[in-house]
This record gives sequence, C-alpha cells and structure tokens, in this order.
Amino acid sequence: MNNDRVLIFDTTLRDGEQSPGASLKVNEKLAIAHQLARLGVDVIEAGFPIASEGDFEAVSQIAKSVKGPVICGLARANPRDIDRCWEAVQPAEKPRIHTFIATSKVHREEKLRKSPEEVIDLARKAVRLAKSYCDDVEFSPEDAARTSLDYMCDVVRAAIAEGATTINIPDTVGYSEPSEFGGRIRYLFDKVPEVRKVVVSVHCHNDLGNAVANSLAAIENGARQVEGCINGIGERAGNASLEEVIMNLVTRRDYFQLDVGVNTRELYRSSRLVSSLTGLELQRNKAIVGDNAFAHEAGIHQHGVLSSKRTYEIMKPEDVGWTGDNLVIGKHSGKHAVMALLEEEGFHLDSDQIRQITAKVKALADKQKNVEREDVIAIARDISHQLSDEEQLVKMIEFSVTTGSGMMPTASVKLDVDGKMQIAAGVGDGPIDAVSNAIWQMVGADYQLQDYHLKAITGGTDALADVSIKLRDQKGQEYRARSVDEDVIRASAKAIIKGINKAMVSQEKRRLHPQHNGQ
Ligand SMILES: [Zn+2]
Repeated sequence: MNNDRVLIFDTTLRDGEQSPGASLKVNEKLAIAHQLARLGVDVIEAGFPIASEGDFEAVSQIAKSVKGPVICGLARANPRDIDRCWEAVQPAEKPRIHTFIATSKVHREEKLRKSPEEVIDLARKAVRLAKSYCDDVEFSPEDAARTSLDYMCDVVRAAIAEGATTINIPDTVGYSEPSEFGGRIRYLFDKVPEVRKVVVSVHCHNDLGNAVANSLAAIENGARQVEGCINGIGERAGNASLEEVIMNLVTRRDYFQLDVGVNTRELYRSSRLVSSLTGLELQRNKAIVGDNAFAHEAGIHQHGVLSSKRTYEIMKPEDVGWTGDNLVIGKHSGKHAVMALLEEEGFHLDSDQIRQITAKVKALADKQKNVEREDVIAIARDISHQLSDEEQLVKMIEFSVTTGSGMMPTASVKLDVDGKMQIAAGVGDGPIDAVSNAIWQMVGADYQLQDYHLKAITGGTDALADVSIKLRDQKGQEYRARSVDEDVIRASAKAIIKGINKAMVSQEKRRLHPQHNGQ
C-alpha cells in the first residue's frame, strides 16, 4: 500500500442520502455515481442494500455500470445483510463489502444488548463471511469514538485476523475534538501494529462542527482513507465535507505532504449536482463550493484591482472547477451546444429529455436575448427530475389568479387527484399565497409548508424562477421539492405539488420498508 496517498471514500449515496429531507431515485443516484467516478474518488459507498428494494437496485446498477472506483455496499454484522450486500456489489469491477457493529458501551447495552465478547464474536463472523465472498472487506466498530480505547483495539485486532482490509474508525455522533481523535488513531497504531498492513479509515460526523478537522487530525496520525460526503451532507449535521478535506490536502500539500487521486476541477460540478438532486441547498459562504467562496473574483475584475488577487487568494477558482463564466446559449445554438454543456455538467439524459430541454431553452431564448449556462442547467434539472407517471398522484390541470391594487388576490386551481378532478378557490396575501391556499384545500390537509425559497436564476425581470420548498407531514418527516418555470406562480405551484407527490410516494414506501440505520 502506498503510504503517501489518502484514499477518498464517498458516502454521499449512503450516509448522505440519510440526510433529513433528502431522498434520491435510482437514476439520480446513478447520475451522482458517474460524476463521482469522473471526480476520481477511490471508493463509492453506493447504498445499504438490505434497507429497501430501491437501495438494492441503486447499488446493483452502480456496480454494473460505474467504472473506476471501488463500489461498496453497507451491511450490518449479520448473514442476511452481508448476503444481500454481496449480491448487489458483486457485478462491480472492484467490489467491497463494508460491515459494521456498534462497540461503545452505550450502543452495546442500549441498542444491541450484547456483552463485549458477544460483539467481538459477531464482528469476527461478519468479516469471515464477507471475506468468503470478497477480498476487499471494510470493517467499522460503530461509535468507535465513544468506545474504550482498549476494547476498540481488541475489536480491530479480531477483524484484521479474519481478513478485513480496511479498518474504519467512525465518530458516529460527532463527539470528538481534533487532537483527541488524532490521539485515538495514534493509540491504535501503537497498540495494534497489524493495522499497518491494512488501510486505516475515518468517518467523522459534524455535530460539533469538527468533522473535517477530526478527519485531518486522523490523517496526521496515520489514517489513509477519509469517508465523507459532497457538500458535507449526511445524518443530522452531516459528514465531513469531502471537498473541504480534499482541498486542505491539496492546498496545504506543503504541510501534509500527501497525495490524493481526485481531479479537483470536478468538485464544483459534483457539488452542484448533489445539491440539485437532493434539494439540499448550500449556504452561500460554504468553504470551497459556496456562491461566495470566490466572490472577490467578480469585484476584482470589475474594479481592475488585479494586484489584490494574490493577496487574498489561496486557491484558484478554476482549481475547483468554478468557472464563473456564463457561456451563453443564443436562439441559434442547436441541440449540440445544449448537449455538450449538459454532458459537461454531468447529466445523463435520454433522447426524450434532451428534446424537451432543447425546446424549453429555445422558447426561453425567444423571450430573453441570451440564455445563460445556469438557465440551461436549471431547465435540465427540472426536466430530468420530473416524477414518473406512477409517482404523480396529484397533477396540476390549470390555474388562474386575479389580482390588482386594492383587491385581495384570488386563485382558482384545478387538480387531478388520483384520477378525480377537483377545483378549489383560495385567497391570500399575494398571488402565490392564493394559489397555495387553493392547493392546500384539496390535498394539503396532512402537510405544513415549512420553507419557501425563491431564486431568480439569471438577472432581469424575465428570468427563470427557481422555487424550492420544504413540506412536513404529521409525523415530522420532511420533503423537499424544487421547480423551475418562467412564471413564478407556476413554479411555486409545481414545486408544492411535486413535494406532495414525493411525500405520498415516500409514505407508501416507508409503510412497506421500516426505517434503517447506519454507522
Ligand atoms: Zn455516518
């Protein structure tokens, strides 16, 4: 094993997909996996195959079609999980089984109700079974950061004896401080010399905001694989943000003196794709990929203060793939220009989708002189994330709004709800409010609108409106949806209806497949 290389293990599709409000369809997971391969991550954790049919299907399709990275599936330490996991990853060029069991006292006693010896025994059996299928086996003692150091070492020793090739030390609940976590990794190297023959990995959560710092501290103490997610998404406060880990190692190579195998120029695009498919928007000041991360650029160009660039810039925007350019698509740019742009952005589209996108871009170009890159991307996202027919239990048939000065905006909306036509009227503080109120009267009884966010994609009064919303059902489950349209009222109505459809489909799925968890 090359000791100067840090392996990047992406779990956006497994841990990241467990983010509250994020839920990805199989084709969306495939699009992200292809982009991750293009980014050049070493391992893709594609899902938790036992969790649901959808998870299994996604892992299996990624294993069949995504080349380059190791394709990994997660399995608890039991034969059913491991068998199912192997079935899903087995077609991959480089398959990996990742199995885990909780080792902290609190998890052992409250969750597993097993003695320390029983847990070691289960870990041994799990690794042994996984190894009988697959050479590449990763083992994690879940909640390792809150496990007593010596017991953690015992479990790791047992897993290596059974053939584990990667040992992952997770800070499952994001409890560690950087120097403490680094010390834990150093202790492992001191007490279990056989870890030198395997890859030591870390998986840090961000509950105290330390996920990236803890990962880097682990690297300084010998860890050579970092697990994390694009944009730092994941359970609760999320996982270590991979773009931050990667750019720390690259920008401060002078300090770490370690290599990573990724193409950093794909970071920005990966970030955008994950954000748009999960509906989890980035804070503007997010390091590396936030809208403001390189914002001084624009000001500099405007004011011609070129000399200040080096004064404030530790990374070049183009190094993370931040183009900032606005390749303009005009009325006469054809299908090929649009396709080339979308291909570059990591979209995988069928010919029908391309036809729909090109038609929309042309219609927009007829109305506003120039269609910018961001417009095309927004349209493509909208069309590629349309729900399938069977997922559309509620469809918008038509709506009209009357508004004017001195009158209360009034809307009438006609919906097709599971094959039955319904009409309702609503009033509100503004036209969007009126339309939403009419929709709620027909289908909204079970949901609350938690969040409404409107963004004009490129400037001007004829800009495309990009609406994202969040709904919450009575059980507190959240659903996000996003829609793009030239008309802000229509974009809003479409987003709300998409959210309701997502909620209905997912409630049905949850009824069939109860909750799962992970490390
Ligand atoms: Zn996790």
